[in-house]
Amino acid sequence: MELKLKIFIKTFLLFVIVLIAVTMSTASVKAKACLLDWNLVDSGKYLDVDGNSKYMGRVWAGKDIWNKHKKGVIRKDSATRMQDLFVSDINKKNGKTGSTTAAGKMRLNKYYLENATVAQRTNTATHELGHTLGLEHSTEKGIMGVAMTSRTTLSKNDKDSYNEAYKKY
Ligand SMILES: [Zn+2]
Repeated sequence: MELKLKIFIKTFLLFVIVLIAVTMSTASVKAKACLLDWNLVDSGKYLDVDGNSKYMGRVWAGKDIWNKHKKGVIRKDSATRMQDLFVSDINKKNGKTGSTTAAGKMRLNKYYLENATVAQRTNTATHELGHTLGLEHSTEKGIMGVAMTSRTTLSKNDKDSYNEAYKKY
């Protein structure tokens, strides 16, 4: 009887340890999966943006959407600042409405955006700005979903991911 109890307790403890380990690893994988290893935001926690895109108005709208959550991070570049991001246009049938590189080049695709609504253009520009802030695609609802939508507000997941990225700047 005593032996059975010991085995039961040992098994139970092992089960608890495994459960904790699994929970912890899932949590860290999830947090990591939402972030990119990019360093476009400078150490002063600023992202200075300029560009010649036809859709700069949408880029500035996206700037305001992110800055509403963290004030003043994305700024319009000026002569006295180091530029972190430049936005230009492409016109290609490649399936992408926009793309951004770790080197700070954002390209908005006229091929798709010309026929898109204002909300969809804002969504694309805001999504691409999310990458420059260090956010990776997410399967959760929000701006950082893979496909273009009409969404122009941050979801809880977008805000949580941004909070995590902000700690790394
Ligand atoms: Zn993307």
